[in-house]
Amino acid sequence: MTLKVGILAIQGDVQENVLSLVKAATELKIDAEISQVMTSDEISKLDGVVIPGGESTTIGQLSLVNGSLKTLKEKIDSGMPVLGICAGMIMLSNTANDRIVGTTNQPLLNILDIKLERNSFGRQKDSFESDISLESMSIPKYRGVFIRAPAISEVGDGVEILSKFNEKIVAVKKGNVIGTAFHPELTQDTSVQKYFLNLISSLKN
Ligand code: GLN
Repeated sequence: MTLKVGILAIQGDVQENVLSLVKAATELKIDAEISQVMTSDEISKLDGVVIPGGESTTIGQLSLVNGSLKTLKEKIDSGMPVLGICAGMIMLSNTANDRIVGTTNQPLLNILDIKLERNSFGRQKDSFESDISLESMSIPKYRGVFIRAPAISEVGDGVEILSKFNEKIVAVKKGNVIGTAFHPELTQDTSVQKYFLNLISSLKN
């Protein structure tokens, strides 16, 4: 049974996600077809999707215009696993305020009930790497790459906190939905991708 996993290729670092998922699938010996997706039609055929990092306002606007925002929401609400990375996690949220600009009124998927601050650690020059821990994913040590990263200050009912850095929440999970403020595709370690592929495989009927 082939797992069909798509990377939303509207904007952001798509290619790195393709490569790291292919690597993870090979290491797990899982039969997975990893593709770039843009349209509603392509998204509707998937078993799992990654919304990559990039610029959440652009991803939101373009996916709203081409209709993929609606399809993504329907598929994820009905149980398709999603990994939202950085801007992708912002897309999953129901509120996104920028640290400096404040309310941005950008199109969001409204899937995770979280209070989120964009660019929480500063701008591009404040990007950094740090060791973090993802205990509940059985990943005790992980290299987090943070690029103009958001942080979560509050989570709603049922949202599990997977990791914190400097008292800020940087990874969350609710059922089929995972969000990370850091970029798993920018490290050689494929543990997060493997966790995600296993989740897709366990939820595929
Ligand atoms: N700062 C970006 C945003 O708010 C996210 C950055 C990223 O995805 N690396 O959309």
